[in-house]
Amino acid sequence: MSVATHGGRAKCLQRLVRMEMPVPRTVALSFDAVHRVASGVMPDMTSLLVHFGATALLCVRPSSEEPDWGGPGAVLNIGMNDTHYADLSDQIGRAAAASVYTRFVQAYAIHVARLDPDAFEHVIEDGPEGLAQVLHAYEEETEETFPQDPAVQLAEVLRSMARAWEGTTARLLRQAKGAPADAGLGLVVQEMALGMGHGESGSGVIQLVDSRTGQPRIIGRYLRQSQGREALDRREEALFLARDPRGPSLEELVPEAFADLKRMTGQMRAKLREEMQAEFTIENGVLHILDGVRVARSGQAAVRIAVQLAEDGIIPRDEALLRVEPRVLNEMLHRQVDPGAKRDVLATGIAASPGAAAGKIVFTAADAQAHAARGEACVLVRRETSPEDIRGMHAAVAVLTERGGMTSHAAVIGRGMGLPCVVGASDFRFHARRQMLVAPDGRELRAGDVITVDGTNGQVLAGEAPMIEAAEDDALNTLMGWADEVRDIGVRANADTPGDAQTARNFKAQGIGLCRTEHMFFDADRLTVMREMIFADTSPDRAAVLERLLPMQRADFIELFRIMQGQPVCIRLFDPPLHEFLPSDRAGHRELAEALDLPLSDVTRRVEALGEYNPMLGMRGVRLGITVPEIYDMQARAIFEATVEASREGEPVVPEIMIPLVSARREVELVKTRVDAVAAAVRNETGRDFTYRLGVMVETPRAALRAGEIAPHTAFLSFGTNDLTQMTYGLSRDDAGRFMSTYVQQGVFPEDPFHTLDQDGVGELLTIAATRGRDARPDLVLSICGEHGGSPESIAFCRAAGFDYVSCSPFRVPVARLAAAQLAV
Ligand code: PEP
Ligand code: MG
Repeated sequence: MSVATHGGRAKCLQRLVRMEMPVPRTVALSFDAVHRVASGVMPDMTSLLVHFGATALLCVRPSSEEPDWGGPGAVLNIGMNDTHYADLSDQIGRAAAASVYTRFVQAYAIHVARLDPDAFEHVIEDGPEGLAQVLHAYEEETEETFPQDPAVQLAEVLRSMARAWEGTTARLLRQAKGAPADAGLGLVVQEMALGMGHGESGSGVIQLVDSRTGQPRIIGRYLRQSQGREALDRREEALFLARDPRGPSLEELVPEAFADLKRMTGQMRAKLREEMQAEFTIENGVLHILDGVRVARSGQAAVRIAVQLAEDGIIPRDEALLRVEPRVLNEMLHRQVDPGAKRDVLATGIAASPGAAAGKIVFTAADAQAHAARGEACVLVRRETSPEDIRGMHAAVAVLTERGGMTSHAAVIGRGMGLPCVVGASDFRFHARRQMLVAPDGRELRAGDVITVDGTNGQVLAGEAPMIEAAEDDALNTLMGWADEVRDIGVRANADTPGDAQTARNFKAQGIGLCRTEHMFFDADRLTVMREMIFADTSPDRAAVLERLLPMQRADFIELFRIMQGQPVCIRLFDPPLHEFLPSDRAGHRELAEALDLPLSDVTRRVEALGEYNPMLGMRGVRLGITVPEIYDMQARAIFEATVEASREGEPVVPEIMIPLVSARREVELVKTRVDAVAAAVRNETGRDFTYRLGVMVETPRAALRAGEIAPHTAFLSFGTNDLTQMTYGLSRDDAGRFMSTYVQQGVFPEDPFHTLDQDGVGELLTIAATRGRDARPDLVLSICGEHGGSPESIAFCRAAGFDYVSCSPFRVPVARLAAAQLAV
């Protein structure tokens, strides 16, 4: 018997029997047998019933390959009929016997005869009157008497369960959960342990760990005079398992059975190599084990259970690593909506940054700051965000935007800050001027209304949903330590500020793989300086701004080097897309006019002159660096002066400098010549020697194709897959949100390519560039620093392509470390 022929439940029961647990007699029907039943070929009922005593009551339960593929509900008490009722009344009393018979008639009517549940579910008066009512209702509805032959009853139950599995709805449901089209169903026929009648009788479930935390704790329910999983359905009436000051417990009622139950559940854990929940029945004081199922668990519990199983020597460490789905770490590192909570979903957008938070809606960054000042939680709602909103993002507990995709401004910044964020929520109608949002069902939301943003699944909920807190703990640290021992691809973080860098270190990133230097100027007092730099159109103006920028940048870099303590820090030269950095409204123009001491009209004119039709493909990155070389000169100087300064205190720092948006070899040559010259000048002025490594970001298809001629001029290539995806598809990062869900729903794209690396297209460019680059320069270091760097699938791709490391937002570093380890075990 195997899981693949009889299903998980049958296999588990077979093992429990071999462990000599008190499992009632059981017969398992294979997938093939059940499939035959569905097509009308019944097994020989007489020989099936021979396994059980003539007077035994039976139950039938489903046994599929994976428990979460679903399956028909269990049917209990098969074999109840008028004769049995009379006998059972003598044994356990009329009321209990009537209750057993009634339950069976109800289940049979609803699940086998498929009668209207309303006619059966609510009839109940207890005892013989209730029984008479359901039997009468059955006869009314079917115009037949209730079947009395146990063989007929069992055959009908088997047939209805087999057919239910083959029905279209059930098939679609399980296929959505990953089941193959031909997934089979096994059925388990088991003798009933009654759980009702004289002496201590009842049923329940027990597990030895807490499903939420994974900590050892006896958890479960026991309900006297009950069957199946009633103890779970009627929680309030159930008793505690272990001694509890709040009320009576199973332990006090039947101490020996309770001790056996604990011991047996522990044995299941050891032998089945998994934390199990036991389903049990007590019949007149005697314990029966009906089933064992894998304990349901949160991400936090999954980690602790896997680590504890390995520490107890039950599974090897490698297996513990494989048992934790990397993405569940996201759950642990952020607050989440309580999975058990009811969700009032207003609309769904793109899940851009995980975690959840609730607060009052605000429509401007200034309002967000005002709320934060009053200590009130707020959610910043914007069409899209720009650097002007950064202050508001810092002040808000979550961000919601109408536009944008996985790599839009709000998404990238939100992830960097660990701020829950939903973008591209275009199902809402945004009325920016009226400061109102309208949900698809017509509900209107205004400033001050409370919503919950769930950045883990993209949902926006009405009101404040109940949350569970982030829970980083010792078990996670242990697991991550094991991951780092086996992993063979590096994991760095994208970090722009000292705060990011500290987070990166806390999550044990092996350095910074991308420091977006223009992001260092998002703070209110600095944004204007950055704008002045972009804005300056005469050499003296520019020189004056750069002189102010130099000390700021130098101080930034010194701090980053200090925090990273000798780990590599890869600094990207400025890449400010103009639409993100130029002021877009009158207030912004006025602020800039004041800063520059110019008439407003001059500023407005110049902003218009600088405007681009397609700023993502305009004067960005190295194009700005070549056109206005003093800018990169200033940055190179700041990096080298910081290098000298930081190296005085400790280990020599070897900075990495990266050129963005390259598309031609000559761009690299030009920048390299100037950076080398600045390095020479700083060496001269300070009298200190240092080295540095110059690298190129591959973000345009042309750079990927021409990697062979670029490689000799560069120590490393880092793939900026955000822009590379944008340019390979010709798909705007900022506008893709509008139609992405339609595209994915209609199967044009299997998934959002800004979220999941397009291995076929963008991936081919990566492979071409890696091969051509390494052919030209075998020691070329290869890495990825686009948002894909943190996703398990992309990490697998990069590792297979021989990359040295991946770099991702600091909060995704643990996920990346675990995903990388799973590839190596
Ligand atoms: C990229 O394009 O992948 C990248 C890392 O740079 P940015 O997101 O800053 O454009
Ligand atoms: Mg880029």
